[in-house]
Amino acid sequence: MNPFALLDKLKTPVWIIRPSTEEVLHANPAAMALEAGRSISDMRHGSLSACVHPALADYTPAILAREQVVEIWTIQQQDQQQALCCHLRWLEMAEHADAILVEASPPAGTMTAAHPATANDALLEDDFHRLLMQTNSAPMLLIDPEDEGRIVNVNEAAIRFYGYSRTDFTAKHTWEINTQGRAILPVMQQISLLPGGHKPLSFIHRLADGSLRDVQTYAGPVVIQGKRLMLCVIHDITEQQRLKAELEQAALRDPLTGLWNRRYLLRQLERSILEKQRFGNGFSLILLDADNFKRINDQYGHFTGDEVLVWLADTLQARVRAVDSVCRWGGEEFIILLPQTSQHNALHLAECLRETVASGQTAELPAITISMGVAQHLDEESVESLIMRVDNALYQAKTLGRNCVIAA
Ligand code: GH3
Ligand code: MG
Ligand code: MG
Repeated sequence: MNPFALLDKLKTPVWIIRPSTEEVLHANPAAMALEAGRSISDMRHGSLSACVHPALADYTPAILAREQVVEIWTIQQQDQQQALCCHLRWLEMAEHADAILVEASPPAGTMTAAHPATANDALLEDDFHRLLMQTNSAPMLLIDPEDEGRIVNVNEAAIRFYGYSRTDFTAKHTWEINTQGRAILPVMQQISLLPGGHKPLSFIHRLADGSLRDVQTYAGPVVIQGKRLMLCVIHDITEQQRLKAELEQAALRDPLTGLWNRRYLLRQLERSILEKQRFGNGFSLILLDADNFKRINDQYGHFTGDEVLVWLADTLQARVRAVDSVCRWGGEEFIILLPQTSQHNALHLAECLRETVASGQTAELPAITISMGVAQHLDEESVESLIMRVDNALYQAKTLGRNCVIAA
């Protein structure tokens, strides 16, 4: 028996499609009536269509993650093109691992409106567009690009998201909610000329309470009462952006001390060399190593050793300028990058740090000292050469008895 026979009883148009090939594995009668002989590709790329990805297969990760995936397709009904809102879902059937279920919102006339008509709804004569707006859980704005992006209509999801009443909302223009203000108008004009289905665009929108949200907007043209308007679907990505920034930050920080890590330092060093070539700003480095640290661990335990490293990191950080970068280079070694600093001034700072560490121990933690190598970057010198010189200077400081500073 056809495993999809049950779908044939549904009034909702449903297709089962293999995303990799866009082959239709099954279409129920309601879906076939809408197709009227057109292929999935024709419908996905029609004049009213709005698809984020050109290929259905590109949605697979999003669909697997159970994200809301919606496309607007174009169908032909009574010699007229109509937009069809389609929800893409994963089909959990063993025999068809590579199959998605596409469920269309029933087209105009087959469902009653979810909300009583309002004055604004008069603009949405086409029942389908009203249905599309009202049944979608993504915020949607219908705007008039010819009238400075005036907001002609919004759905309930947009009212909830932005926090404006319907009346206030429809008295606004998109440039009033976009932080770019009127500068967005030429961009919007360009977008309105696109056929739809383009990649989402990123903006910052201001909500009624003044808070800002990172949004991606999917805009596509719709023709209503012969007027070309733009239907914008809004996707709030504020949380994703925050997580992304957090991850980027975590990738550059040392988890124990909170200082910059080796990756950050190497990047900054390359940047400092370029800046020196461009603007002539010289810089110096201090390489610093805790003396006899193994003994601290052996005597007091690894956890106390960790606490001493955190104390040392805080002490260094508190003593340098805001422009200096203190990095944990590895274990009990640190590098301080000093922009616009001569060898002489770097040596002076290193000596101050040495004294501060040697005399600044708290009662709770074992005392430590530090040894340092100091080097000023030489013209044309590579990062590797600079680090090698400062490392040799540190080695000398160790052989000279530790708790001292040596210039490279
Ligand atoms: P020197 O004066 O020659 O630098 O002697 P040292 O004992 O400090 O040098 P060595 O390189 O022999 O040992 C470094 C020690 O630092 C050994 C290692 O266990 C310890 N260490 C490295 N990273 C950490 C850390 O994250 N936490 C703790 N507690 N100890 C660490
Ligand atoms: Mg050491
Ligand atoms: Mg060491």
